[in-house]
Amino acid sequence: MAGKMRNCQRCGKLFMQQNREKICRDCRDAEVEMENKVMDFVRSNPECKVPDIVEGTGAEEALVVRMIEEGRFEQTNLKSYHPCKKCGKEILTGQYCEACLSSMQENLQSVHAKIATSSAAAAAAKGKGMHSKNLGKTGKK
Ligand SMILES: [Zn+2]
Ligand SMILES: [Zn+2]
Repeated sequence: MAGKMRNCQRCGKLFMQQNREKICRDCRDAEVEMENKVMDFVRSNPECKVPDIVEGTGAEEALVVRMIEEGRFEQTNLKSYHPCKKCGKEILTGQYCEACLSSMQENLQSVHAKIATSSAAAAAAKGKGMHSKNLGKTGKK
């Protein structure tokens, strides 16, 4: 027997689960239909914003956002405005705006720099220690 009975996360209906899906076939079909509708809408309204899509298609915002995050619109060379995950600024691609990306990169770089300096200092200290040890060894030889 393949799959097991479980409740659909969307409509609550019992369905036979296959491939670990969380929603029933009816909901899946409805979702695919909605995704197609959203794609059509974005295709005819390039650079539309998420609220426009929601209003124009009746799709849930979560679905539209998920499609953006999955890069669905990028695959068709279409981009859509959506809020930056950090500051909420409207952006066309990715999950964060450029400002947030660069500030995150700076944070990352300063963390890396700190690690680099401390590890360099540690390596230098270690190197000195090893060097004198080696000298001692060669001296004994
Ligand atoms: Zn369902
Ligand atoms: Zn941002």
